[in-house]
Amino acid sequence: MPEQLNQRIEHCYQQAEAFFKRSFSRPVVSFKLRGQKAGVAHLTENLLRFNPQLYQANHADFLKQTVAHEVAHLVAHQLFGPRIQAHGEEWQLIMRGVYELPPHRCHSYAVERRSTTRYVYSCACPDRDFPFSAQRHTLVRKGRRYYCRSCKATLKYSGEQRKE
Ligand SMILES: [Zn+2]
Ligand SMILES: [Zn+2]
Repeated sequence: MPEQLNQRIEHCYQQAEAFFKRSFSRPVVSFKLRGQKAGVAHLTENLLRFNPQLYQANHADFLKQTVAHEVAHLVAHQLFGPRIQAHGEEWQLIMRGVYELPPHRCHSYAVERRSTTRYVYSCACPDRDFPFSAQRHTLVRKGRRYYCRSCKATLKYSGEQRKE
């Protein structure tokens, strides 16, 4: 875990604490995320996961935007509870008000392309998705159901396909 990443996370928490005048419990941080997502926030586990490859390739923007984006999810969850929308007004308030950043939903880093088509499923967790194989996608079409272990929602096809 790069020291700069830890420092940026801590700084984001301190900014939120100064803004809201309360304390926030610090998350567990993992630096082992792979694939297309720069970061993922696991709300109930109070866990942040970051992607080391995208961190290396987009260092400055990653520290500024991605870290604040994901920390804002955990701060919003601690402030407003589980019923808010992932990128709704509460999260946007934190991005604009606390971090003075545009509330961009997704990162736009270039990601290396490979050749398998994945069918992207999602649940209720922010920034979380589930790339399904063609076989698994077909099983869902035939009535099979899959669930997110974290939020327990049924995984739904987003309509998005992706090359992985
Ligand atoms: Zn997000
Ligand atoms: Zn979920």
